[in-house]
Formats: sequence, structure tokens, C-alpha cells
Amino acid sequence: MEFSLSEFEPVGDRVHVAVAEPEGVNVGLVVGSTGALLVDTGSSPEQGRAIRAAAEAVAGGVAGGVPLTHVVVTHAHYDHVGGLAAFGDLVTLGHEHLARACAEGTPAPSQTFAMASAVNLGDCHVELAHFGRGHTDHDVVAVVPGRKVAFLGDLLETSAEPSAGTDSWPGEWGASLDWVAGMLPRDCVIIPGHGPALNMDGAGTQRGEMQWLHERAQALYHAGRGAAGAWAPDWPWPQEPAEQFVAQAITRMREAGRPRQRPTLPLINR
Ligand SMILES: [Zn+2]
Repeated sequence: MEFSLSEFEPVGDRVHVAVAEPEGVNVGLVVGSTGALLVDTGSSPEQGRAIRAAAEAVAGGVAGGVPLTHVVVTHAHYDHVGGLAAFGDLVTLGHEHLARACAEGTPAPSQTFAMASAVNLGDCHVELAHFGRGHTDHDVVAVVPGRKVAFLGDLLETSAEPSAGTDSWPGEWGASLDWVAGMLPRDCVIIPGHGPALNMDGAGTQRGEMQWLHERAQALYHAGRGAAGAWAPDWPWPQEPAEQFVAQAITRMREAGRPRQRPTLPLINR
């Protein structure tokens, strides 16, 4: 499929989302009274330029018109960071580990942070925070508290299941999501990295599915088994993404040298 960009559709008060194909990545736009912030940049500099033009048209047409001033990248995967070169004259932000994780030749953000940062857009601000490892070791969440919208990058996905790659941390992912959930209002609109928006209940369900899969991974690890052949139809996710998540969870346990024997309560062995 060729590159295409949907219209920026409203998901909150002057908060918009456009979908960039072929990866189906959600690109966010938050428009304040003095500037506007873009969340993620598409897969290539060409896509970044097209996204920039569309975002500037929206920001320029809202409430008297403001310039696009800031860009945040949620993580280093190419469909989120690949367009960053088109924004070199703006303030660009990302986690301090992002540059290390980017493919060679990808420009780094102009400002990085270890835990949190905030962007003032005049009549609203956007909080950027890293809550721990999950989809990658540098996932950044962008929260617009005054407008009850949060962009979670690929910590959540709804067009398919969340994707666990060799740079993912399945055992810590759920806890990172718990930290995020703790700072969001109950009626927050949650924009995943790919797919339609979800509410707090939907996010909680996906987090619970990850917990289930991680417990299954622990059981397999303690039994000296891998993920291959373990999947069954009653698992919460289809075979491929579930096996990837469980396999990566087992890889991380192995890397950490976690003891194989599952600890048991003394009473049980008596
Ligand atoms: Zn990703």
C-alpha cells in the first residue's frame, strides 16, 4: 500500500488524529493558543513533510491560527520516528534512549529527557512522560490533561494486538501501563499507536491480557519450555502475537538469569 494520510479528525477539544498508511500509525495534533504539538511523524522524511503540511493547515485554521511548534516522538520504530527530518527547525522531543535505538542516519530529537517533560501551548499544556519499559525501553506517553486525551504510542494497539519485538520488555510492560493509568482521568480518550481510540476499560482489558500472557510465560519458563507449541485457542490473543509476546518474555527471563524453579509456599510442600 502506498503512503496516504487521512484527514486530522477531532478526538477532543482541539486535539486531532490522522492515520498515516501503509503502517496505519496514529499521528496526533494538539492545538493550543500559542502553538501546536505533533505526536509522531510517519515512516519517512517525505511522509513527515506531508504530515507537517496537513498539521500546519489544521493548526493554522483553528482559533485564529497558530504555528506548529513542537513534535514528540513516542519511540524509535521507523513508522513513528521516520518523518522527524521534516521538523528540524521545530522543538522536537523524545526519551534520552531514543537516539540510541534509532536506525543510523535518523535525526535525533533536539530535546531529550529521562523521565518527564512538559510543553506549554498557551491555554493548555502537554505532559510527556516515560513510565518504564514496555514496548521499548524508551516509550513516551503524551497526555493533555486539560482535554482528557492521551497518546500512548505502541504501548497499546487496537488494529492488532500490541507488538512485542526483540526490543520489548513484556514483564515490565503491564506495570508501566499501570503507572500511565494512574495519572489519567477515568473519562480519558486513549489514542493507541495503531487503531481506533479506546477508553480506560479497553486499556485495562489489554493490560490484563498482557498479565495473563506473562504469567503463562513464567509457567513455561519454570517448566523449561519455550513459547513454541504452547498457544491454545483459549488464549486472549491470536497465535502469532501471543507467541511473540510470550517468547520475548521468556527471553528476558533467561537474560536476567531468573531462577527456573517456581517458588512455592512452604505449606504446599509439607
Ligand atoms: Zn512500535
